[in-house]
Amino acid sequence: MSIAIKHLVVIGTGLIGGSVALALKRAGCVERVTGVGRSVENLEEAVRLGVIDDFNHDIATAVVDADMVLIAVPVAACDQVFAALAESLSETAIITDAGSTKQSVMISAEKHLKYVSRFVPAHPIAGTEHSGVGAAFAELFEDKKCILTPNEQTDAKALAQVQSMWQAVGARVKIMSAVEHDDVLAAVSHLPHLAAFAIVNAVGKSDDAFRFAAGGFRDFTRIASSSPEMWRDIALCNQQSIVDKIDALQEELTILRDALNAHDGGVLLDKFASAKQARDTWMSKYGDKL
Ligand code: NAP
Repeated sequence: MSIAIKHLVVIGTGLIGGSVALALKRAGCVERVTGVGRSVENLEEAVRLGVIDDFNHDIATAVVDADMVLIAVPVAACDQVFAALAESLSETAIITDAGSTKQSVMISAEKHLKYVSRFVPAHPIAGTEHSGVGAAFAELFEDKKCILTPNEQTDAKALAQVQSMWQAVGARVKIMSAVEHDDVLAAVSHLPHLAAFAIVNAVGKSDDAFRFAAGGFRDFTRIASSSPEMWRDIALCNQQSIVDKIDALQEELTILRDALNAHDGGVLLDKFASAKQARDTWMSKYGDKL
């Protein structure tokens, strides 16, 4: 099913919101895009780049005649966004989001929306370490996964429309529960980001070390250049799952530390070999789809 959106309102016109708008425009699926955000500079740049047609700082008036609303702000800001738009949305408007955590966003939607069945939670598994509309590009979601986490209340037609929208930007849509999403993403995305922030801080304690860092350090720490505001929100909104994954990482580090203290090369070899095998298998199965 293809989608035809008359008026899309993008609340949070940054990397993700901007890229969705560009991709929908390129696919000819949207007539008008209104951007919403706090800084006028970012929104003026969005108009200049052809990402949006107009902008509005006031969420309530921006969404009045929207048929599709995309919320793409840092996840902790979603609660205030739902509160601001709840009274102005038409009863036929569909809402989706792009937040990296799903249970927290769904709790906010439930709290504020009159027609919560028309909210279809989404998380595109695509991005970069760059922020703002200047980093947006139409190809960002091509052949990348987008996870939808509907629940028993979700309206089937709204779900189909949102699925079509994410497919129109090039994504492969997967459906799972919000609980499963938050657990899996804590492991493969949230933990690696926190580990990258921690490694850079640990290494940065010695001024000289960075001078000798090379490609391996650059590759491992690329994601530590991501938006601190966005990652503070993700960490706080998926706190328990991330704490569990940090515990698992700490267990692994303790095994390595104990093996080093004991000069136990056998344990080190076993641990390094099992990690290499797991990663090599993952890369050969999924590497060309990343
Ligand atoms: P971004 O480039 O920083 O864009 C966020 C936008 O939201 C900015 O344009 C910001 O503009 C606006 N904003 C922030 N707080 C706001 C508020 N209270 N009200 C209205 N607008 C607000 O971030 P992003 O990478 O696009 O991320 C957006 C969402 O997508 C986040 O929930 C993130 O978890 C999720 N996500 C990100 C990635 C990734 O790799 N980056 C991948 C998948 C999902 P102003 O500061 O001018 O208001």
